[in-house]
Amino acid sequence: MFDKILVANRGEIACRVIRTARKMGIRTVAVYSDADANALHVTMADEAVNIGAAPSKESYLLADRVLDAAKKTGAQAVHPGYGFLSENAAFSEACKASDIVFIGPPVGAIQAMGSKSAAKQIMEKAGVPLVPGYHGDDQSPAILKQHADDMGYPVLLKATAGGGGKGMREVWSSEEFDEALEAAKRESLSSFGDDRMLVEKYLTQPRHVEIQVFCDQNGNGVYLFERDCSVQRRHQKVIEEAPAPGMNERVRAAMGDAALLAAQAINYEGAGTVEFLLDTDDTFYFMEMNTRLQVEHPVTEMITGQDLVEWQLRVAAGQDLPLTQEQLQINGHAFEARIYAEDPDNDFLPVTGTLSYLQPPEESANVRVDTGVLQGDEVSIYYDPMIAKLIVWDENRDRALSRLAKALREYRISGMTTNVDFLYNLATADPFRKADLDTGFIEKHRDLIFHKSEAELEHYLPLATLFLILKRNQDAYNLASQSTDPHSPWHITNGWRSGSANIHDYHLLINGRDVTVVAEETSPGHFSLSTPAANTEMNVQLSGNLEGSDLHADIDGHRIHASIVAHDGIYSLFTQDAALQFSIVEPDCGDQGDDAEAGFNAPMTGTIVALPVEAGATVKKDQAIVIMEAMKMEHTIRAPADGTVVEFYCQPGDLVDGGAELVNFEATDNE
Ligand code: ADP
Repeated sequence: MFDKILVANRGEIACRVIRTARKMGIRTVAVYSDADANALHVTMADEAVNIGAAPSKESYLLADRVLDAAKKTGAQAVHPGYGFLSENAAFSEACKASDIVFIGPPVGAIQAMGSKSAAKQIMEKAGVPLVPGYHGDDQSPAILKQHADDMGYPVLLKATAGGGGKGMREVWSSEEFDEALEAAKRESLSSFGDDRMLVEKYLTQPRHVEIQVFCDQNGNGVYLFERDCSVQRRHQKVIEEAPAPGMNERVRAAMGDAALLAAQAINYEGAGTVEFLLDTDDTFYFMEMNTRLQVEHPVTEMITGQDLVEWQLRVAAGQDLPLTQEQLQINGHAFEARIYAEDPDNDFLPVTGTLSYLQPPEESANVRVDTGVLQGDEVSIYYDPMIAKLIVWDENRDRALSRLAKALREYRISGMTTNVDFLYNLATADPFRKADLDTGFIEKHRDLIFHKSEAELEHYLPLATLFLILKRNQDAYNLASQSTDPHSPWHITNGWRSGSANIHDYHLLINGRDVTVVAEETSPGHFSLSTPAANTEMNVQLSGNLEGSDLHADIDGHRIHASIVAHDGIYSLFTQDAALQFSIVEPDCGDQGDDAEAGFNAPMTGTIVALPVEAGATVKKDQAIVIMEAMKMEHTIRAPADGTVVEFYCQPGDLVDGGAELVNFEATDNE
């Protein structure tokens, strides 16, 4: 076995590999870019080598730098993780030439699977079932169309060099063919510098089912069953599970055998995944083979009780596979949800920002969190915006699904928009519970998954308001205790004056809505709440206490616990059932922070919506000067004093980073 390996990756997968290496007594070397100098994978490794600037093309993708780092530190092998150099045949070859073991398949296997049509030809020869189609060399449009016509519509055009769903077009009739072909070719040429196409039958309701295979250098091969990755957005996986629901033993064995046949056809070694489309009638077709460890490998680990990274290391060191096919068994059910910094309501666009609050669910035998970030870390534009993988296991699918929903509710992140709520809606949607899966699942159930419940407001507005009341009392108390006369009656009441009606207005932005709440202290510590102007008339009685970020509330006799954390003027509220954000539009007693300077920087990453005044304008204290939108809420940046807006550093429509300077403001010296 190796004494020392280099992990040529970052983020969760680098941490994941390091964890297993450490368990096996193998020392680890991390590589990192300038942006990752303080990243978790760097602190976890025994040694770390800087390999360049933040963009991956200037660091993680530079084979030479990675190899130099391995030589310099005496690493005997390189684990490439997934992405980056993991399927780069030249890199694997260069490792070999330097006598460093590439923890992955032989060069030939990587090359064989590099082209979709070449891979299909190999598989066809090996007798692996393919989606009916044409993947030949004659690329004349007439030939391609003839094949489509013969096959019958719908068909799918795919770029031979494709990946990530690019250069792919559905064609529903012969009339549409020419135009679709041209579009797919154009897209493929611009993405891959190659416009060769293959045509295959388009399955309208397939499931994406893939088989995990493993082969050693001594001629042994096994499959570790299947994963169902049908739930996809933009042809990318969102929630994966193992085993595939409703899979019958005969189909499982046939798919497993076909996958092994595929692996043997290219003299495979190490971990690989053979992807299939499974049709409604249980026929299945080879799609492609990924010659590396997949993102979703943990679900397989959970149901087999195996550590696949350990298997990879053993195989790469020349050992036999740890188990035979007969020794492998499926135990229970596992899900993986990919937690991303992205906005599901905005076409899943990635977002960036600082993880100002990050509290994953507690890990246990049933709940696993694979991550590469800590609270305070940045999700930057440079890399994949995946924050973590949440993996759960239980005895059966129903129980595992309940665990998934619960763990998603306990996943608390603030500082940026994430897909956690979207994942929760998906995991709790009835068709998902019933395992009514196919690759069109998200599209088909849009209404269910993207819903926003109106009822939520009634639930959470009282909690948010109670928090604000208690927090204000606490702040006032803290202020008073610093005062020369802490017992002065002017301090302790903080506006809740005895003898007159103790009424305060709170103007909140919550759930994308603008609400004014009136709170009245009816007896000490008890408040009554009403929303005179809102459509939802409410009148509730509140009391409770606040300890740090924990709010214990009593709302009309219903006790609820919530956590509330603040970042950059936004509060994130988490309960057992929901996570939402709110902010205060105008505190009614002028207790804004004293850091007027901070107001000129973007409180968080977001979009500039409007600049209500012109550059050069003189403005009054509290006048709005910049309006931006972040986390689906508008933020108004106001003048901290009377003064002049000298210059704006942003324009409406700009995407600005949290902390970016937005405006040059000069206060008028009038005192
Ligand atoms: P890429 O390499 O670009 O990701 P794949 O060939 O892996 O493309 O396909 C990605 C996804 O596209 C699959 O998971 C499946 O959802 C869909 N898909 C691919 N081929 C077909 C087909 N013949 N019929 C229906 N859907 C398909």
